[in-house]
Amino acid sequence: MDNRVLVALDQGTTSSRAIVFSSDGQVMASHAVEFKQHYPQPGWVEHAPEDILDSQMTALQTAVKVSGVDIGRIAAIGITNQRETTLLWEKDTGRCVHPAIVWQCRRTAPLVQRLKDRGYGEVIREKTGLVPDAYFSGTKLQYLLDLPGIRDRARRGELCFGTVDSFLAWHLVEGRPHVTDATNAGRTLLFNLHTQDWDPELLEMMDIPREVLPRVMDTAQVIGQLRTEILGRPIPVAALAGDQHASLFGQACFAPGMVKNTYGTGCFMLMNTGEEPIQSRNGLLTTMAWRLAGKPTYALEGSVFMGGATIQWLRDELGLIQTAAQSEQLAQSVNDTAGVFLVPAFTGLGAPYWDMYSRGTLVGMTRGTGRAHIVRAALEAIAYQSHDLYSAMVADCGHTPSQMQVDGGASVNGFMMQFQADILGIPVVRPVVLETTALGAALLAGLGVGMYGSKEEAVRMVRPDLTFHPRMEARHRELALYGWHRAVERAKGWVEP
Ligand code: ADP
Repeated sequence: MDNRVLVALDQGTTSSRAIVFSSDGQVMASHAVEFKQHYPQPGWVEHAPEDILDSQMTALQTAVKVSGVDIGRIAAIGITNQRETTLLWEKDTGRCVHPAIVWQCRRTAPLVQRLKDRGYGEVIREKTGLVPDAYFSGTKLQYLLDLPGIRDRARRGELCFGTVDSFLAWHLVEGRPHVTDATNAGRTLLFNLHTQDWDPELLEMMDIPREVLPRVMDTAQVIGQLRTEILGRPIPVAALAGDQHASLFGQACFAPGMVKNTYGTGCFMLMNTGEEPIQSRNGLLTTMAWRLAGKPTYALEGSVFMGGATIQWLRDELGLIQTAAQSEQLAQSVNDTAGVFLVPAFTGLGAPYWDMYSRGTLVGMTRGTGRAHIVRAALEAIAYQSHDLYSAMVADCGHTPSQMQVDGGASVNGFMMQFQADILGIPVVRPVVLETTALGAALLAGLGVGMYGSKEEAVRMVRPDLTFHPRMEARHRELALYGWHRAVERAKGWVEP
């Protein structure tokens, strides 16, 4: 029995977590520290950089202490992070010149519009696999560089740009390496998927001096030793990965066509597409799954805006349920939705529909419609939206998956997972460890220090907990999807431009 352990740092949008894993992927201890969200203006979101750092340090030190393991047993640390959130700090002092601009922040929408107006949409799409959007780091960095005096300082090499992985590596690793990994670099709008390097044309488009950019590492690679004062010993930091990418790895989606869906506030679906990047014809993003030994593996990515958030809405706005868990019981108290469909297009619809003018719609009600039907329709809507993303991915990449891996807080809902399997027509597989993001980061770090000989070896202990097999007849499934798509048509174009 290998008694070495791995530690994952999972730096998320609302909390920083650390999890200690045994070498066979079991959780030994974990600790999470929440931190404050700042909303300086409507649509703007910031984090205090010191909150990110302090909460992550506390989570690490506490989890390790609670686990009771001797520090010498920690073989490696992996870092996974909220993606796209942008920081800019002074090389001399580590001080950020501005709070972190969080991925959700819309402040750079005008800069994005300018890129679109100048006709750069297509070249951005072709080179980065992304679409011009304020969500990604590029225009956030451009915004910071536009602040008085900042671009000149950047040109003189006094400043470092980084996403959260990069920021943590700089602060936690001996020698202050200025690095990021390919999965995080791939979310900046500045990184060329094909050349695997920062792209001079994109840098010029957003007026970004190359001097501020980090060195791009593989996803699993030793970037240095944890500073000794943090845990009392140096420990290799051996993986950096964006959260969705780490989760794809933790779910062992290694072959083209393997797919995972994370059911959180929103849903994030990634499908491994192999060694070649695929340009979507259905409005999905092209991203890297990971880069190992210099070789990128690609993925298609799509998200459902209103996933678990639909259930929060039932609870907080409508008061139809008291707890999210209650939705399962209530949905199962009726045989079906009695013809009711809820399209939770509260903020418009994303991939594959792309209609920002659609709005939430509840159709098919009769005098007999009750609370349970509506709650059931809400759970089904999450599965229908995931189905449509999945279909778009299958159409783009030509692989038909044999199953879908699931995780995330809302995947505990057995009714929804069964309905998901029914509507997809393939089994839905939920693993024992639902913390697949942290697990992925830990296993990547194990791979990075050579504790595992291959990625297959790293995940050999990852076990399915429950498999939901499709039980719905094909004819019934077609009718259900037909009804759902009619409801989506009703939701579209509601807001007049
Ligand atoms: P995030 O990481 O986005 O904060 P989590 O993975 O913690 O999200 O999942 C929380 C979401 O899951 C919430 O939106 C909540 O409404 C939903 N959720 C939690 N439990 C259930 C449940 N039993 N059934 C349906 N949805 C649930």
